[in-house]
Amino acid sequence: MRASLREKITRIAYQNLYKHHDKGLNNKRKRSFHYTFLTLRNNILHWEINLENKSHPESFRQGYFGSTQHSELRAIVTFPHPTNILNKLDLWNIRINRHNEVANSRPCERCEDFISEFNFRHIFYTNSKGCWELL
Ligand SMILES: [Zn+2]
Repeated sequence: MRASLREKITRIAYQNLYKHHDKGLNNKRKRSFHYTFLTLRNNILHWEINLENKSHPESFRQGYFGSTQHSELRAIVTFPHPTNILNKLDLWNIRINRHNEVANSRPCERCEDFISEFNFRHIFYTNSKGCWELL
């Protein structure tokens, strides 16, 4: 169960990179991609990636600096269902670095604060060895 969900998340993360490659970023991908997935039991309800050079009014309200939208914030701000069900969901972070390796995606302090308000059942992230850990 869990293993197949993890595999699905990892597969979508990689597929999205290749989609970006197809759009012409195939020469040198200059950044890593940080994803947040929101899951209910074995189903992925929603996911988002971080955006660079693009700020969001909610980012400022939540005390983020600079012009990056972290994937955790984006996933919650764009969540297409009522946010009062978030406490039934698990949150999964995964990062694919510029060498196409799974890398550390532990939420930053600001995101950890922000996502703690929603009482997710579990928060998982990939560590620097590419393995899943529970926050
Ligand atoms: Zn963050």
